[in-house]
Amino acid sequence: MNFLEERILKDGVVKEGNVLKVDSFLNHQMDISLFEQIGAEFKRRFADKNINKILTIEASGIGIAAITARHFDVPVVFAKKAKSININGEIYQTEVESFTHKVTNKVIVAKQFIQPTDRILIIDDFLANGYAMRGLIEIIQQSKASIEGIGIVIEKGFQQGGKVIREHGYQVESLAIIQSMDAKTGEIVFGK
Ligand code: 5GP
Repeated sequence: MNFLEERILKDGVVKEGNVLKVDSFLNHQMDISLFEQIGAEFKRRFADKNINKILTIEASGIGIAAITARHFDVPVVFAKKAKSININGEIYQTEVESFTHKVTNKVIVAKQFIQPTDRILIIDDFLANGYAMRGLIEIIQQSKASIEGIGIVIEKGFQQGGKVIREHGYQVESLAIIQSMDAKTGEIVFGK
């Protein structure tokens, strides 16, 4: 069992509706020593890639991406959930359905922050059905930049996102993959 799986077992809480709460260390209170370990592990897994930028999505991806960026010595861009519409054509935009909030958000990135020559690592906290990830992929495709890899902290392997995105040929590295979890017993089983 790796450091993250251990922490999930210690402090994660399984909720009804296939939701894992990790508010005490990942996406409300943030354990920065753990984030350091996460960043180092992403660096190790993508060591052979010539990454020059990290892309994530607000809000919970930002902290993880920021600490990870220290290990790659690159800037972070985060996609914003915005109400504004594109009137001047200076933004990339797409729509993302939120797994946790059951709403659809318009997601935007200013064109000036992703160039066609960029080699991007996408980082996010969770991969569930893959809607957020598909939105980020679409934005990078619009920009013609290249996607060097996808780093996920927690993948819920019993939901379809990871399978669908790997089938498109992307290198997806998830530091913990949950095979099953049970809200009644609190049991969490990890897979590969
Ligand atoms: P997806 O778009 O892959 O269905 O869901 C990914 C997004 O939903 C992540 O950015 C994350 O914020 C949120 N999310 C999905 N599943 C969970 C979960 O079990 N727990 C928490 N805390 N967030 C989740």
